[in-house]
Amino acid sequence: MFDTDKYLTLLKSERLKRAVKIQSEIIKLSRDFLGSKGFVEILPVVISPITDPLTDHRVRGEIECYGFKYQLTKSMIFHKQISLLSIPKIFSFSPNVRIEPVERQRSGRHLIEFVQLDIEVREAKREEVMKLCEELLIHVFKKIKSEFSDDLEFFGRELKIPHTPFEKISYEEAISAYGQDYEIKLSSDISEPIWLIDFPIDNREFYDREYPDRPGYLVDMDLIYPEGFGEALSGGEREFEYDRIKRRIELKGIELEVYDIYLQFAKKGLYPSAGFGIGIERLTRYICGLKNLEESRLFAKLPGVLGL
Ligand code: AMP
Ligand code: MG
Repeated sequence: MFDTDKYLTLLKSERLKRAVKIQSEIIKLSRDFLGSKGFVEILPVVISPITDPLTDHRVRGEIECYGFKYQLTKSMIFHKQISLLSIPKIFSFSPNVRIEPVERQRSGRHLIEFVQLDIEVREAKREEVMKLCEELLIHVFKKIKSEFSDDLEFFGRELKIPHTPFEKISYEEAISAYGQDYEIKLSSDISEPIWLIDFPIDNREFYDREYPDRPGYLVDMDLIYPEGFGEALSGGEREFEYDRIKRRIELKGIELEVYDIYLQFAKKGLYPSAGFGIGIERLTRYICGLKNLEESRLFAKLPGVLGL
């Protein structure tokens, strides 16, 4: 049952109002920043015959129309790569639907519908998009800190401006220092954002690029927020050559047919690229220092709870 009274209380709360106001500014600042760097904003794709596999427990949201099967977008990764055939630097505020397991209901980090600021750059290397991301975040943090100080004070949030370049740690170092639960443990241990790089092939999807000279490891990254807020974004360089993509899909045990359309584009030639997707609700949560993601947007939908 949907609890209308409870939702009205949240809607009218000072916390939600201020968080949404800050979120609106985060979106505006990001847009302005990317526009000034020559990026073109593309409209998001909500249904498509292909989407991110996310080959874990998250089920597919499928709809059928005219006898065709469309899936709700889990991420726009393939559309980003294909967009680069037209425009060299793109971004989109892309709604993603991921039916997360109920155990994630209270993680503070998972909604079943969220928005990624999804960025992709033709011919870019991982390090270039990492630098771009640092500049983007510093731009947003500085502006919010100076122009929304009353709101940050209301939340009791002391937003730090991190030093650049952010530090880096490899996945293997993180695992040996913190174990499997590295995301939150590492995040709780740091006071500035940190890049987590070079994931092993089994940990990620088939589109993250494998080092040509270091088989089994990927030219990819996550950004981890400090103070226990966990993962901010994931990204990396992408596989773009047909044979390599085909092999990686097969390695995952996915039927090639599922990605037939994507493979056809790969056969005709995709550009090398790198990019990332940063969750807007999690960014809002971090900036405002919110505990729960429910306060990080209007109509937040938690796993296992009927949302609006
Ligand atoms: P991923 O492709 O899974 O790495 O997702 C990219 C980014 O989207 C993550 O780093 C988060 O910032 C955000 N994100 C992923 N899943 C969720 C979720 N269930 N709820 C809210 N944000 C999410
Ligand atoms: Mg991720």
